Amino acid sequence: MKGNSILFKNVNVIDCDNERTFNGDVLVEGNRIKKVAEGGGILGDGDTRVIEGNGRTLMSTLCDAHTHLSWNSGDLDFVQNMPVEEHMLVCVESAKMYIDAGYTMCVGAASAKNRLDIVIRDAINAGRFPGPRYLANAMELATSNGLLLPKASNVVDGVDQVRKVAREIIGSGVDMIKLILSGEEITTRVWAQQTFFDDDEVAVVVKEAHRCGVRVSAHARSAESIKMCLRNGVDVIYHASYIDDEGMDMLEAKKDTVFVAPGLNWITATLEDAGQFGYSSELAEKVGYKRELENAVRGLTEMHKRGIKILPGGDYGFLWTPHGTYAKDLQIFVERLGWSTMDTIRAATVWGGEIMNMPNDLGKVKEGYLADLLLVDGDPLKDIKILQDKKRLHGIMKDGKFHKDPMTVGTPYEELVEA
Ligand SMILES: [Zn+2]
Repeated sequence: MKGNSILFKNVNVIDCDNERTFNGDVLVEGNRIKKVAEGGGILGDGDTRVIEGNGRTLMSTLCDAHTHLSWNSGDLDFVQNMPVEEHMLVCVESAKMYIDAGYTMCVGAASAKNRLDIVIRDAINAGRFPGPRYLANAMELATSNGLLLPKASNVVDGVDQVRKVAREIIGSGVDMIKLILSGEEITTRVWAQQTFFDDDEVAVVVKEAHRCGVRVSAHARSAESIKMCLRNGVDVIYHASYIDDEGMDMLEAKKDTVFVAPGLNWITATLEDAGQFGYSSELAEKVGYKRELENAVRGLTEMHKRGIKILPGGDYGFLWTPHGTYAKDLQIFVERLGWSTMDTIRAATVWGGEIMNMPNDLGKVKEGYLADLLLVDGDPLKDIKILQDKKRLHGIMKDGKFHKDPMTVGTPYEELVEA
């Protein structure tokens, strides 16, 4: 017995390594994928647990590149004013919702209090609560004239103050640090096409972060803010709605190192679903979200043509973008951006491994990779919406262990035999 050994027989493998899918067997030993055999034929030893796939799909778990575990599916005031005791429980709950939805790779895109992300990340990693692999962030850094969430931001003005606060946050143990470089229409105070921060303020954050192995992300909707990211070495650009031609060329020149995560679900849901919460489509359109969506789709289409890495991750955790609905982002990539289902899945898996800084460990069904796997009832390449239906996620494995065991799923396909 070599410890935990699990064999998936007769599965439709989307390995994400190439354009093909194939039927075969996949053997997991310990926390890694030991063997992938096209056509099948793997025989486990007496201690191997065999899962009969019956043609179900086996693929990598998913990545959300713009995650807020501490956003509590409430309104903006609620996110800012929740007491810390309740707030920590919200993080525990959303971490579970992510892994329940098949996500084991999440990039923190700001937390509502400085230490919430760090504490939940460490608790997940210690095995105290279920959750994804998580890159922790802190409260976002914003200038005093560019605040999106006044009570959930580190307010910084001038290079010296930016450096001091950035150093404190980096020293607290984050993986990511986030800058608010542009506004956001829903605030009706600071706007998407406005740009805050100066280049030297951004540069000092990048310098301090990179010296400690921390990466920098930025809320950048305006054309100027996107270029500010690219001039100064920001690693992850969020939104990028109003990119101009110059910014596009700058981005293309850095396409091997920079990731874009547009967070499109926030915009589409604000335009389409917020009405039931009292924020009408007319209002959303009037403040500028329709215009922004049109610009974003145009820019993202050009980025995709140029081979820039665009990742799903839709700013879940607000009132009309509730936790648990994360895979809606994949549908948006297919339906709004016109991507193929294969390109979309690859963005959520292979590029997920890359943005997690584990490109040789996560995001593929490949020998030697970590066993973060989804066993899916049906073929997401034929219908991407399957991934939103938790009943069809029959097995969810992280690090070689089932978070959701297929044996617990009561379907006629379910079959478990000892080898
Ligand atoms: Zn966000």
